[in-house]
Amino acid sequence: MGFIPNVCSIKQIRRGVNYSDDVPVTLHRGDLTAMDVDAIVNAANPRMLGGGGVDGAIHRAAGRELVEACRQVESIGGVRCPPGEARITPGFRLRARWVIHTVGPVYARDPDPPETLVRAHRSSLQLATSRGLSSVAFPAISCGVYGYPLHEAAPIALGVAREFPDLDVAFVLFGDATFAAWEAAL
Ligand code: ADP
Repeated sequence: MGFIPNVCSIKQIRRGVNYSDDVPVTLHRGDLTAMDVDAIVNAANPRMLGGGGVDGAIHRAAGRELVEACRQVESIGGVRCPPGEARITPGFRLRARWVIHTVGPVYARDPDPPETLVRAHRSSLQLATSRGLSSVAFPAISCGVYGYPLHEAAPIALGVAREFPDLDVAFVLFGDATFAAWEAAL
């Protein structure tokens, strides 16, 4: 994987705090849309037709073809991806070949935010596995407009990543507070 600077691998951190097992999970500061991985994960909304935050950044970088591909995804009453599920489209002009779209919980409204956050990460990684992909990069799903507290989200996201030791999972974190929350959760 051609990673952007500021890589901080769990392997290195674990060695520092004397953990014995290694998993291929890495933390990065910066822009998810620049990642050269098989798939980046979009923090989408259920309609999957673009939005703000990382969703908007991904659509801008991928080009108009991405929203057209999203329109082709089966919709039930306008919902293409319910919370906790995942869908896949090509990455078009992104360096990543694929975009996995998942919908995290709206923290203040979801009936069980931790469970939905687990399912959003797990279904994304299951989809990557089923497509034979080997490297996947996530943003901090639900930690922007959806209001999930960083220090609660980080251990959940990392815990699910550890369920998939055969995948290279990266977290690309925008801003120092988000990076610090993921680092602390290690
Ligand atoms: P959600 O609606 O799931 O909360 P947001 O896009 O509002 O999604 O925010 C999710 C996280 O993605 C936030 O931490 C936000 O700062 C971050 N983010 C926004 N743009 C980017 C980007 N280009 N690369 C990585 N992370 C980003």
